[in-house]
Formats: sequence, C-alpha cells, structure tokens
Amino acid sequence: MIPTQLEELKFCRVKKKTKKPFEKEWTKKPYSYKDILNFLPSENYGVLCGYEDLAVIDSDHETLQLAIDNLLPDTYKVKTPSGGTHNYFFIPELKQKLILDLDNTHLGEVQSHGTQVVGPGSIHPNGKKYEEINNLPVTKISCEKLYEVVKPFMKEIKESEELAKLEIGMSSEIDDLDVTQIWNASGLKKQGNEYYGEHPVHGSDGGMNFWINPLKNTWHCFRCNSGGGPLSAIAVKEGLIECSEAQRGNLRGEKALQSIKIAEEKYGLKNERPLTKKERHPLPETPVVPKKEIPLLWDKELQEWEETEQDWIIDRLIPNRSIVVLTGKRGTLKTFMTLSMAYSVAGEIDFLDNFKSRKGTVIYLDKENGISIMKKRTTMIKNGLNMNGKDLKVGFICFSQLKIDKLGDIHQIEELITKHTPSLLIIDTYRRGISFDENDAGKVSELFVDILRPLVEKHNISIVLIHHNRKGGTGEVPDEMDEIRGSSDLANYSDIIFKLERKGEFAILKQLKNRNAPEETDMKIKVTFTEDSVKLSYDGEYEKQTQSGKCSEILLKWFYEKQIEQFKTKDARDIAFKAGIKETNFKWCLKEMQDVGAIEKMEFGIYKVNNNKEVFNKGIGN
Ligand SMILES: [Zn+2]
Repeated sequence: MIPTQLEELKFCRVKKKTKKPFEKEWTKKPYSYKDILNFLPSENYGVLCGYEDLAVIDSDHETLQLAIDNLLPDTYKVKTPSGGTHNYFFIPELKQKLILDLDNTHLGEVQSHGTQVVGPGSIHPNGKKYEEINNLPVTKISCEKLYEVVKPFMKEIKESEELAKLEIGMSSEIDDLDVTQIWNASGLKKQGNEYYGEHPVHGSDGGMNFWINPLKNTWHCFRCNSGGGPLSAIAVKEGLIECSEAQRGNLRGEKALQSIKIAEEKYGLKNERPLTKKERHPLPETPVVPKKEIPLLWDKELQEWEETEQDWIIDRLIPNRSIVVLTGKRGTLKTFMTLSMAYSVAGEIDFLDNFKSRKGTVIYLDKENGISIMKKRTTMIKNGLNMNGKDLKVGFICFSQLKIDKLGDIHQIEELITKHTPSLLIIDTYRRGISFDENDAGKVSELFVDILRPLVEKHNISIVLIHHNRKGGTGEVPDEMDEIRGSSDLANYSDIIFKLERKGEFAILKQLKNRNAPEETDMKIKVTFTEDSVKLSYDGEYEKQTQSGKCSEILLKWFYEKQIEQFKTKDARDIAFKAGIKETNFKWCLKEMQDVGAIEKMEFGIYKVNNNKEVFNKGIGN
C-alpha cells in the first residue's frame, strides 16, 4: 500500500478524497510506517516533510518540471491527479518551504518543515489516484544544488533584489557599498558568482539559509524570507531591525536615516571614492589558452593572400610578434644589450646607432639582478645613449617571483600587458622565469605552444628571453646551437636566436636562427665603458675568423701575457702549433701581422713586437 521507498519516513492522517490532514498539531504527531498502515486503505495519508530531511518539490508547471528532470538527479516521483508531480529528495540543510513562480505564474513549491504531501495510492478529491511515476529510491541532494536549480523561480529572491533597488532610492550612493563588505563573505561558500552559508546574525540550523549575490549587490535570508541591499544589511547587522523585518516597507524613517549614517561613518561611504561595482568585481579575463578550433585557410583565401612586409620593432633584428632568445656565456653583456634594446625602443632611437626602432613601451621582468644593480645598469646605459634624465616607458619588475609557465602568474603578467600595451617583454632570465626543469622537452613545448605563442599573437608583442650558454667548452663547437642550455625545443620553438660573444672591447652578435629570413651576418659591436656609462655601437660586419686570424689572436695574447718585445719565429711557431695552427696559416698570419704593423721583421727569424694598444686591438678585432 505504501511504497517501500517511503518506509523510513513519517506520516500523518488525511481523510479519503481530501488533501488536508485533519488531526490537531499533525506536524508534531508523526506516525511511523507501521502505525499509519492501521488506517489504510479507508483513509488517505500524508508524507511529512522535514522529518528524515525529506523535501518534496511539488511541481505544477512544465517549466519547473523541465528544470527538475534535467538539472537534478533522478529520484522517486509521483504523479498527482491534478496534473502535477511530487519529486522526493533528501535535502539535509533545507529548513523552510520555498514558493516558486515565474513572472507571476505559480510553478509550485518546495515542501519542507511543517508541510506534507499526499502519498501515492491516496485518492484525490477528483476521484483519481496519486500514482507512482517510477520505482526509484529517494535521492539525497545538497541545498546549494536545489537553490542552483530553483533560484530563478524563487519569488523571495526577486523581492530582495527589488528591495535593493528601493534602497538606492533612499541613498543614491548606497550601491557603492558592497554587501560582501558588510556581511563578511569569507565564511561563506562560493558558488559561481554567489555565496551561500549560515546567516551571520541569527545563524542557521542546517548551515545553508543565507545567500549573497555581489553582482546584484543583494542578500537574502531563506529562513526569514527577507533581504535587500547594503542598507538593510547594515540595519540588520547593527541590530536596528530584525532579519525577518528586512522586508518591503519596514526600513524607513528614523531607522533608514540611522542606517545611512552608519554607512557613512562605519563603512566609509562618501569618505573616499568607493570602488565601482566593476572594480570590485572585475569580469574574469579569458586566460591564455590555445584556440580550440583550427582555422581553415580555404583555397581562395590562400590564393588571395599577400605576404605583408615584415613589421619590425627593431629593424632587421626584432620582428613584431616574435619570440627571441638572446644567449651567451656569463659576462657577455647580455643584460646591457637588452637594456640598450629596451631604451632604444622606448626612446625611439637607433639601436646600436644603426638599427631603426619603432617607439613602444617595454616591460622588463628582472629575475636576476634586483633594484640596486638594475638602477646602476640602466643609468649607465641611459648615459651612453644620452638619455639621462628622460622619463621613458620602460617598466621593471625587479627580483620578480613570477613564473611564466604558471597560469596564475602569466595571468598577472597578461593583466599588465593589457594595461600598458608594451611592444616588448624582456625576461631576464628564461631559466629563472620557469618553474620546470629546462631539459624537460614536454614542458618547454607547452610553454611555447600554450602560453608564449598565444600571448604574442593576442597582444601583438615580442618576447625576448635572456638565456645562458652551457658552462665550459672553450674549444670550437661544431654547432653553436648545441651550446644553448636545456632542451633543444627552446631553439626549435623560438623565432630568432642571437648569441653574444665577447672579444676584447668588442661584442659579437651572431644570429644563429631566423625563422623567416636568412640569418644576418655576424655583427661587431664596439663596447665603450666609462665609470658611469656604457655605450654599445654597431661597428660593421664581423668577418668570420680565419685560421690565420685565430693564430694572430693567439700570438697577440702571448705577447701581452709574457710582455714579449722580441721573439724568434721558432718560439712563435711552437705556440701556434700547440693550438693546432698549420704551417701555412702560421706563415700567412706573420705576414698579416706585419701588414697591420703589429710586428716588424728585425732580421732572419727574429721579429719585434709593436706594443701599441691601437694595433693590439685591431689585431684582436680581426
Ligand atoms: Zn533571517
């Protein structure tokens, strides 16, 4: 007679062909399954809600039914003879009945404490039977889950939103205060943009009777069916009115004025410009993620496509929207080189006195040096560029802990990029900017494909990564790319790779890779240090060192270190041979050194060294 799903529940007596319990205080007089059977089948029976956490969604409308069927889990359901349904759930935290409607159309109720529903098998006043729709057990759901589904239909919440609007009528600035500021939201549970939890003043039996929507700046109490905006929140919190009084028409006159005064004095209304609602709740930015959809370039578009001219941030060196790696051993002036790059772009002057720059803002993520070193270095560079005293758009993040492979950090960096729209982002250094092992090819690939490339494309910037070469390895390296530390994927995924070398008072800038064009010829850069400045200037193409050039370098070093003024050919030959120089190249070298005036032939087999600094440098620069 009563389905076994309901065996553990509590019941009340209802007369045949009626829907209402007839006993006094029936809500406090629960019958067990066994006891209620004594009155059946000559009577109807009611299933008591609230006991054993039972809640029944009494649905009278297909809009509500669609929401229940599609958004809530399957559960035991009963069809009522009036065309509605009873949907049984166990909802532990729910302590009050909810009325559901939409645009003044009644959709149904959620029956909870103090209510009952007529059980299956009973006879409706119209003579028809309450019938089971299925034979499923009763499912347990959380209160939040219920609210999530039925909230759009909750009349009371609509009313609280209306009340919040009325409060703006009482004090036009009140909406500048945030309900989450007044009701401390930190103890509440966040779900989507909203908060649920225990009422901060009168508490909750089930822990789930209070709701805040910061975007609508509205709060609501499900127990008292009350709510409103910031002003009523203050009135309730400060004890000017009870929670249950936060309803239409109750907050006015003296109490409203007092609340406004408290809003000003205690919550800072008008004292300073409060944040706007948009500032308080910035819309979440779309994080940098690769596009899901692969764009197709149709044949027609492919035929019509015209190659655009390369757009440069620094002519011939740094293209727009590219990922550039600048690598080199320690002490090869990588930081000075990139700082010079940064200030050339910010000040729109020729980089190295030779390469045109397009004006732009630069963000420099310094992870190695710290403020005092960066101040000293930037001052030296600016002095060298005659830019001292100029305020330029180069922004530094010194000793940054940010990691460019962490979505949270890259999000923060992206916010800066969105705000300041730089054309160049310099990361000093790559290795300290990542949190993974630089040899992990998979992670390197993820960084470039999922994070850096989308960042470059989305924000129209170029990224320069400063990187170290492997330590040691003084000898000739067959492929200079192999000197780059970490996974070779770093080289594969970057567009351009520069290598810096130091040769006496020159730096040699080599382009090891250029994705879209032939590599530039190696560049000779003159480095001039004074006490408080450093100047870097292009000094023409650097000719690849010949064997004889290498030989002259070795001999000049020998002269310098041993303070040699005269030497025998035989001794010089020994030095050169030890370094692997062949006889022909050694002879050619001696001839070249005589030509530039570095040495002079005294007599057969004996040479004099011209210890002139200029000549010395000329030899080195070869
Ligand atoms: Zn309340």
